[in-house]
Amino acid sequence: MKHLMDLSKDSWTSYFESIGEKKFKATQVIEWLYDKKEYNPLNWTNFKNETRELINNNFSKSFIKIVRKEEDDLTKKYLFELEDNNHVEAVLMEHDYGLSVCVSSQVGCNMSCSFCESGRLKKVRNLSTFEMVEEILLIEDDIKRRISSVVIMGIGEPLDNYDNVIEFIKIINDDKGIAIGARHITLSTCGIIPKIKELMNLPLQINLAISLHASNNELRSKIMPINKVYSLSQLMLTLDEYIEHTNRRVTIEYVMLNNVNDNEENAKELIKLLHGKNVYVNLIPYNETSHIIYKKSPKDRIMKFYDTLKKGGINVTIRKEFGSKISAACGQLRSKEVK
Ligand code: SAH
Repeated sequence: MKHLMDLSKDSWTSYFESIGEKKFKATQVIEWLYDKKEYNPLNWTNFKNETRELINNNFSKSFIKIVRKEEDDLTKKYLFELEDNNHVEAVLMEHDYGLSVCVSSQVGCNMSCSFCESGRLKKVRNLSTFEMVEEILLIEDDIKRRISSVVIMGIGEPLDNYDNVIEFIKIINDDKGIAIGARHITLSTCGIIPKIKELMNLPLQINLAISLHASNNELRSKIMPINKVYSLSQLMLTLDEYIEHTNRRVTIEYVMLNNVNDNEENAKELIKLLHGKNVYVNLIPYNETSHIIYKKSPKDRIMKFYDTLKKGGINVTIRKEFGSKISAACGQLRSKEVK
C-alpha cells in the first residue's frame, strides 16, 4: 500500500483524475500534509466524505522514528529506525547560509566503493519516498527550524532508487510543501549513466554531483566497481551531454585518499580530464573508519593537489570537515548500532 507521503503533487493529480475527483484537490492534499501537518485524511474538511474515506482506507500513514542522536557544534547526526527495524541515518549541518541535511536513499548500498562504510552492508531495500520525506520532517521537528538545503549523499545510491528519489525531490521542492528550492537540492551519484541521462530530461533545476574519486580508468575501477560497468570515458561523455543539455554546472567530488589518488600525476590527469568543462571540483577530506584501511591525505598533500588544480585552471574547493568526531562518515552511526 502506498503511504500518504509517497506521492508528489503530480501523482496526486493523476490519482484524483483516476477517481473522478477535481485535479486541484492535489494542492489541498499537499497543504494538509506539509503545511498543516494533518495526517488523518478524515480531518481534511475541504474534502467530500466519500473521498476522505477512500484516501483513509487506501493509503498508509505510519511514521519512522529517531532512535539515536550524536552532535557537536555544527553537526547533528540522526539514526532512524524504519518500521521493519532497518536503520538509516541523516546528518544536519549548520552553515553560514543556513541548515542543510544529508539524507539516505537506501538501506545499505550495492555499489561497493572500497573506501565507503555504507557499502559494507549490501542493499537490503530501497527507501520509499515517504521515508526520505520523514528524514526531513523529523529533523525539522526536532530542532524547530526550517531546513534550507538538502543533499542526497547519505547511505545508498540515489540513482539506483530513481523513481522514489524523484518523487521525494518533487515533494520537498513543492512550494506548497516543504518548499526547498531546486537549486538547494543536490543529488550525488557514483555514475549510473542511463539514469543521469534520464535525470537531465526532467524539468527539475537540481544540482548534480558526481563521485569521481579517481583520475584514470584503471584506478577508478580499482576503488569503484561501478566503473567496470560505466567507464570513466563514457562518464565524461555523459557529463558533457548533461552540461550541454541543462546548462548547469556540475560538482565533481574527489575524496582524498592518502597515497591512493592524491599525487601530482593524479592532479595533472584530473586537469586533462576536466579542462574546459563547466564543473567545480570539491576535494573531500577522507573520513577514516575503523573497518577500512584507507587513510586521509595529510593537509599539505591536499593543499598541493588543490594548488595544482587551481594553476591548471580548474575551479576547486576543499570541503569543510563536519562531525568527524561524531561518526559522521556515511554509515558509521548505523554500523555502531547494528554490529
Ligand atoms: N552513492 C552516492 C551518494 C552517497 S556517498 C555517491 O556515490 O555519490 C556521498 C559521498 O561521500 C560520495 O562522494 C562518497 O564517495 C563519499 N564518501 C563515502 N565514504 C566517505 C568517507 N569515509 N569519507 C569521505 N567521503 C566519503
